[in-house]
Amino acid sequence: MFESLQQHFAQLGPEFGRPLKPTALGSARLVHINHALAEDIDAQALVAEPQQLLGWASGQQLLGPSPIAMKYSGHQFGVFNPELGDGRGLLLGEWRDGDGQLWDLHLKGAGRTPYSRFGDGRAVLRSSIREYLIGESLNALGIASSRALCLVASDDTVMREQVETCATIVRTARSHIRFGSFEEFFYQRRYPELRQLADYCIERYCPKPEGDPYAALLQLAVVNTADTIGRWQAYGFNHGVMNTDNMSIIGDSFDFGPYAFLDDYQADFVCNHSDTQGRYSFEQQPAIGLWNLNALAHALSPLLNREQLQQALIAYQPKLIETYQGCLNRRLGLMGLEPEDAELGQAWLDLLAAAKADFHHSFRQLSHYQRSGQWPKALAAIAQQSGFQAWREAYQGRTQGQDRDLCAEQMDSANPIYLPRTHLLQQVIEAAQQGDYQPLAQLYACTRQPFKARPEWSAWAQPPATQDKGICLSCSS
Ligand code: AMP
Ligand code: MG
Repeated sequence: MFESLQQHFAQLGPEFGRPLKPTALGSARLVHINHALAEDIDAQALVAEPQQLLGWASGQQLLGPSPIAMKYSGHQFGVFNPELGDGRGLLLGEWRDGDGQLWDLHLKGAGRTPYSRFGDGRAVLRSSIREYLIGESLNALGIASSRALCLVASDDTVMREQVETCATIVRTARSHIRFGSFEEFFYQRRYPELRQLADYCIERYCPKPEGDPYAALLQLAVVNTADTIGRWQAYGFNHGVMNTDNMSIIGDSFDFGPYAFLDDYQADFVCNHSDTQGRYSFEQQPAIGLWNLNALAHALSPLLNREQLQQALIAYQPKLIETYQGCLNRRLGLMGLEPEDAELGQAWLDLLAAAKADFHHSFRQLSHYQRSGQWPKALAAIAQQSGFQAWREAYQGRTQGQDRDLCAEQMDSANPIYLPRTHLLQQVIEAAQQGDYQPLAQLYACTRQPFKARPEWSAWAQPPATQDKGICLSCSS
């Protein structure tokens, strides 16, 4: 037991979750330790002894006295489901870092719980690797996200589309409370518990609110969600399953399934094979974020009047647009924020789409144009599109007078070379399934430092072959 491990959530009471021990994984082995994260949250002691870490991260031993399976509900694909909860994960406790910040430690893949329904309580290696890497990637891009402290593999198997081996991750996040955690109590008209949960969040996430504390909590969710989704849009990230139980109350990117970074710029891209209506397509994400916040506001309506709810929600759109345009401008090398930037940015995206140019490489290549004034050969296909000349003139006009080298440098620090893209993840997963974890370690390393080109990492910078573009993934995990 570590002194810095707290058990605050566990004290809320049985309505909020069930105390439960994990079910140990068989023949477990540590595949990767996220030392960078351990350092960030002053948790080096947690990972210092690999045998000890493997013990609690595989569920063989307890880290603290009160692991909890948290109860929540949620809207899945627009339909309310009251029967959700941690069906395969346990909150182990909260870790206090050197600044006093608390970090939830959650063991995902910890076995069956009272909320498992028909599930086996496990997570497979494939999806665990994907979740492990995306947290690091988003974090490195400056996008708030849960992360994971380590990855454990096992020989135990479960059935998905095929037989797959199990794994666990130790997920860290400032919060594991979801929009659906509030819906849980609202739809049962259990308003004292609703208030208790809100008080818990206020104490932890907005301890010094200006004005009404419940309004401040909703405002926090609105503004942070808008900020996160604005960044997803600017970086071409498709979450894939934005159900309200996968939305963090503090707006962090959370609970990943069949996510993907765009390959080409395809606004209506859907990464989740099961999402036949395209509800969670890339371009729908901003609207769905607001839909989900409406569901949250509805759940908080016993604590707030109509005007307070509306006041909080109207902050969403301006915040999202501001964040999105700010990020896009940094990527395009546009200093400041001008009224014409929205059109200029959109015209660039339209050119990418028409040219079927790789989304991430095109941004990265654009800094060469700033440096040399010559249109890069790698972007030749874009130059052939109708509308290109007009766009180039407008872009030149907008960037005139800026220091070109400085601008190019800033663009390079905003445009990633290395991302856990679907085709690269497939390679890493296939190797790991054969027991080779080297590719995972490599993709982890470059994902953490996405902006600086390194020749030895060139294989991880390659876009997919045409036939591997825009793969739609299964949501099984
Ligand atoms: P997710 O799609 O991972 O967001 O999960 C949706 C709901 O299904 C949550 O209540 C999960 O705890 C539960 N769930 C997902 N996979 C499993 C599984 N293999 N075993 C038990 N419960 C699961
Ligand atoms: Mg979930």
